[in-house]
Amino acid sequence: MPLMSFTLLTIFPEMFPGPLGHSLAGRALAEGIWGLDVLNIRDFATDKHHTVDDRPFGGGAGMVMRADVLDAALTAARAGKEGERLLYMSPRGRPLTQKAVKSLVNYKNLTILCGRFEGVDERLLEAHGAEEVSIGDYVLSGGELAALVLIDACIRLLPGVIGEPLALEEESFGDAGEYAGLLEYPLYTRPAEWNGRKVPEVLLSGNHEEIRRWRLEEARRITQERREDLWERYKAVKKT
Ligand code: SAH
Repeated sequence: MPLMSFTLLTIFPEMFPGPLGHSLAGRALAEGIWGLDVLNIRDFATDKHHTVDDRPFGGGAGMVMRADVLDAALTAARAGKEGERLLYMSPRGRPLTQKAVKSLVNYKNLTILCGRFEGVDERLLEAHGAEEVSIGDYVLSGGELAALVLIDACIRLLPGVIGEPLALEEESFGDAGEYAGLLEYPLYTRPAEWNGRKVPEVLLSGNHEEIRRWRLEEARRITQERREDLWERYKAVKKT
């Protein structure tokens, strides 16, 4: 049994698994650590042209995905899945943060609706209790890439997907240890000198305490310089 199974609803099923069929995610998929099921929404249309969209009531540009067609697809997708949760990828949704990803990983079954056109009929979202999730404050042409981003962020947290689980703790947006709330410190590997640029001396010193202090200082500097929002939150948490 996979640790996490995703059921995707899309009009472009051939976009999956796409990039997630490669590298660590691809291997984990082949090993059955996570599972993927893709339904073509068009298969649930009832007319001979397999129409899934129509013009918006009230006028305006673009097309809207129909509630009746999506309902047929979702009803088939969600049947018999215990503790399943339905997500609709949408720029209006709750922002996908590392914290949100960590809470999604507690679900065994996620059904993900990928919108196209201007979006989907509101009644469908209400009737199915869909939770809207956004991957950022910009507009994509469809929910498929957003779903791939969400799935990738989830599955790399599953045991057995990434070689060294410890590596996750010290990453950007981690919430444990002294780097909690900070962006990552700079990374270096061989050669020790490249095009006249040297690796910071302290990293070659073998002095773990000094290395730890240097990394923490760098993580703090980078966070303060680049992300005022994260820096303010970090300082507030440190004080309490
Ligand atoms: N008219 C909509 C945008 C539609 S974009 C609006 O103004 O809010 C078409 C589809 O792309 C959406 O239905 C959604 O599924 C997906 N999408 C676009 N931007 C996204 C984002 N930032 N996060 C998640 N999904 C997004």
